[in-house]
Amino acid sequence: MINSIDYNIMPDFEQRSKIEEKLIAQFPFIKKETVGKSLCQKPIYAYSIGENKNKTLYVGAFHGMEWLTSIVLLKFLEQCCKSIDENKNILCFRIHDFLKINGLTIIPCINPDGVEIQINGSKSAGKYKRIIDNITPDTSHWQANARGIDLNHNFNAGWKQLKSLEIKNRILYPSQTRYGGRAPESEPESSSLINYCKTKGFSKALAFHSQGREIYWDFGNSTPKESLLIANILADSAKYKVSSPEGLAVGGGFKDRFISLFKKPAFTVEIGLGKNPLPLSDFDEEYKRLMPLLCLGIIL
Ligand SMILES: [Zn+2]
Repeated sequence: MINSIDYNIMPDFEQRSKIEEKLIAQFPFIKKETVGKSLCQKPIYAYSIGENKNKTLYVGAFHGMEWLTSIVLLKFLEQCCKSIDENKNILCFRIHDFLKINGLTIIPCINPDGVEIQINGSKSAGKYKRIIDNITPDTSHWQANARGIDLNHNFNAGWKQLKSLEIKNRILYPSQTRYGGRAPESEPESSSLINYCKTKGFSKALAFHSQGREIYWDFGNSTPKESLLIANILADSAKYKVSSPEGLAVGGGFKDRFISLFKKPAFTVEIGLGKNPLPLSDFDEEYKRLMPLLCLGIIL
């Protein structure tokens, strides 16, 4: 008898690793790869199932407060594995069949240090503790990595324009949010994600954040023409809205880099509604709402 996995936990590194180990033990066909290491030397893992070509990429927890996205992605990975094992649909979707055509890779947490700092405080960041303590004594709203760089402002897409906006807004130094660093992809988390994508040829990518129940789909002239249609279908399925970013939300993000580098569709999905960090008690309802979107993300 297989023990069912409990997702009703705060997914710091230790707890999340336990879930990931259980998944690998239950479903040995999951392919585990190392994407890279965080500043605090925490491994960043990717888990893949299904066909090797045409893979969709789901990435969670770019920001410290947004760990709910990690457990959403891990639970969905479990459901997909069960769908393969038992030859069963998820909702009305024959995911076990679709995965033979379009595979899925999930990276549950691209910012393991940021999540750890938000949940367990600066003491969890080793030699970076002093930098964090200088920025804030209270890490309950920490979004950045361990040296105060916001990963989703650090990607090499419209980075210079974003930097001048940061300067205009007096965001000049490492901070718990919105400081993009001194050079694009200066951080091991952002650079290793891009290097990993370069070797994989993903057909599209969904970056999961919280909150707002909305989907961002465009980045300038490189945006593929099918992106808006896909965004509309995904948004309808979860009763989310389709949005275009403004101001400091333009450029520097993983979605933007993926679109401009690969000329393929990429989306930012802002899960949940309320104030970050969304509470664990939101998990069941939001997961239910996201299930069709997560299925369609593979199929489309
Ligand atoms: Zn975010």
